[in-house]
Amino acid sequence: MDLYEYQAKQLFAAHEVPVQRGELATTPQEARHAAEALGADLVVVKAQVKAGGRGKAGGVKLAHGPEEAEARARDILGMDIKGHTVRSVLVTLGADIAEEYYFSILLDRSNRRHLAMCSREGGMEIETLARQRPEALARIPLDPVTGIDDGVARAILGAAGFDDPTARRAAPVLTRLWEVYRDEDATLVEVNPLVQTADGGIVALDGKVTLDDNAAFRHPDHAAFADTRAEDPREAMAKEAGLNYVRLDGQVGIIGNGAGLVMSTLDVVALAGEEFGVRPANFLDIGGGASAAVMAKGLEVILGDPQVRAVLVNVFGGITAGDEVARGIVGALDLLGDQATKPLVVRLDGNKVEEGRAILAQAAHPLIHMSDTMDGAARLAARLAAGAVDEGGATPDPDPAATPARP
Ligand code: GDP
Ligand code: MN
Repeated sequence: MDLYEYQAKQLFAAHEVPVQRGELATTPQEARHAAEALGADLVVVKAQVKAGGRGKAGGVKLAHGPEEAEARARDILGMDIKGHTVRSVLVTLGADIAEEYYFSILLDRSNRRHLAMCSREGGMEIETLARQRPEALARIPLDPVTGIDDGVARAILGAAGFDDPTARRAAPVLTRLWEVYRDEDATLVEVNPLVQTADGGIVALDGKVTLDDNAAFRHPDHAAFADTRAEDPREAMAKEAGLNYVRLDGQVGIIGNGAGLVMSTLDVVALAGEEFGVRPANFLDIGGGASAAVMAKGLEVILGDPQVRAVLVNVFGGITAGDEVARGIVGALDLLGDQATKPLVVRLDGNKVEEGRAILAQAAHPLIHMSDTMDGAARLAARLAAGAVDEGGATPDPDPAATPARP
């Protein structure tokens, strides 16, 4: 999960990394009040979007007093920055900047290490700096146990060419940023710029933090950072139900058990769909224990998606046997009642497949189409989604693998 700057700065402050005081505002009036509360001559109004280069895009503006803060907030709120609509601004105390530096800690996956990067030339985009003046960017691999203690901090700052007095003052800030990275289970902590103020203070003027979602279970407090407004409502619903769901942009809804099976189902549907101009609408893994309730929740998420025209249920009976899965599907359709309106292609295989198919045939649900093979199921689902097959099954299906569930 990527954090907004104001959230990153909350974590910084909790770990005693110096930041400028600030308040979040969602209207120009709130921005005025925030500036009044800060009581400073100079404030900065900063667009809160999860994108870099806000300054260049006009999303970071200095303001003298509450009146100007309100006006700048009016300019910035509603702006589009790299495809992100600005819904809030951070109003902070303005800093008197003497120098701008760059500092980050990140998980360097290709080298399987934590990596610190540091430069005396901050403010500009790091990609540009790394390309134009790679020698100005120190890259120091970190020992995961030691992290950044005072000695390591001094070594990083030395490698980046900082003079001794500055390094002495900046070292504790680097150490605390490491604590943010380690204690909050981040995969990125970036400060650009880290500034030296006119009075010699070292302050994180910007903050970019990515938290490791796999560690969310040990940080219940991080849940408050989730941006429910920017989140897709279907994904939010699936997450709440504990389903592993990712929305895509196609028309064929997909449910399966096991991430590998679902991934390969996406591939097969993408291939089969080429001919009909349709694509997978989602990834949804209902996992091992496909009870009726879990299946119902999964179907509810997918069937409620307006872009979905047909659904492919691809299940391989394992610990949860085919007959249970079949009962789950029938039970799900019963639970959904009138909500279920889109054709469902079911490919069932594995443990107790015969029993499962018999249950589906017995149910004779008008929406259920059976298919014996994955390829056949993908083809049929693609054709149904493209409207190439009458849902009632009146159009003869040339695919021998696909047969309607009804006797
Ligand atoms: P970004 O463009 O999205 O990275 O946003 P930043 O938070 O890094 O701000 C962009 C630039 O605005 C910084 O590099 C600074 O030059 C400038 N800036 C931000 N805050 C202040 C401040 O408090 N005082 C001054 N003088 N400039 C600031
Ligand atoms: Mn920045």
